[in-house]
Amino acid sequence: MQITPHTQPLNNANRLGLNYRHQATQLPWQAPLIDAHTHLWGVEAARHYFQIASWFGIQSTWSQTPLKDVPAIALEFGDRVNFVAVPDYYNFKDPNRFTTSWFENIEQFAALGTRMCKFWSAPRGRDVHPSLTLDSPERQYAMKLAYQANMMFMVHIADPDTWFTHQYKDHRKYGNKADQYLVLERLLDQYGDVTWLAAHMAGHPEDLNHLQQLLDRHPNLYLDTSACKWMIRELSKHGSRLTDFIHQNAGRIMWGTDIVAQAGAMGLGDDLYASRFWAMRSLFETNYHGPSPIVDPDLSRLNPSLPRKSTATVHGINLDPATLQGLYHDTALTVLGN
Ligand SMILES: [Zn+2]
Repeated sequence: MQITPHTQPLNNANRLGLNYRHQATQLPWQAPLIDAHTHLWGVEAARHYFQIASWFGIQSTWSQTPLKDVPAIALEFGDRVNFVAVPDYYNFKDPNRFTTSWFENIEQFAALGTRMCKFWSAPRGRDVHPSLTLDSPERQYAMKLAYQANMMFMVHIADPDTWFTHQYKDHRKYGNKADQYLVLERLLDQYGDVTWLAAHMAGHPEDLNHLQQLLDRHPNLYLDTSACKWMIRELSKHGSRLTDFIHQNAGRIMWGTDIVAQAGAMGLGDDLYASRFWAMRSLFETNYHGPSPIVDPDLSRLNPSLPRKSTATVHGINLDPATLQGLYHDTALTVLGN
């Protein structure tokens, strides 16, 4: 695939100066996509998201939207958005936001027809609230509520390998990376009749063998490809092994971006969303092999000799149409419903 760089001003979502609207027309895939992982915060941000999404053929999304924003977004975008229940991240000062008021929120989300509940359990959750481990008593109660409401479960269980040698050096506090999966696997068995979507390639895009073991051991487990910078950086390193992995696990992996759409778009305008769509599509459907347009701060954090605005390498794997149809659309539709 050809790109035409240096036609637009540079920013952290566009180090190549791409005209994303034009580049979208150069991508080979022509059928609709489902973005299985977004965060649409407020109806204005949702409008902006869908405006850019339309350039890239995104038909619908599963959004982790705060409860108060759900009615307005549902009214305007109807069946283009499925909501995922999440705690009230707007009110960080409310001491109950991850406990009692969260339990009420789950029931309110369920009353609105929400069919999936997110359990965000990144190791750094321990710094936010003690209940944000996957097996805390509060989490177990919330899981029971979500189960009774017939919800599917979504989980964010781990962060990049490199974070465990940097941010999470205190293993007594955070555990090591393998520890995160002990509790996940136990709960995957305990709630074996629930569909589980493990975000960000189950937190381990660095290790496809580990992901294969998880998928083989737990038939109720599915993965999404979201978290653009992390996925581009790590999945690109696997080359043809990634192709094999996606083939082998057809029907278990769904495409997503992890776009956080909020007012102001972090000052990056259309490029914030367009860059994620472009990079995450280029990785799977093209043979592009070159720099990502998105600044990845983890690169210079790990290697301080690198410039602060370093970007990872995209290694496109040029999947065949049948595999793309599953990854981009059919798996989400079949597994999650519409
Ligand atoms: Zn997310």
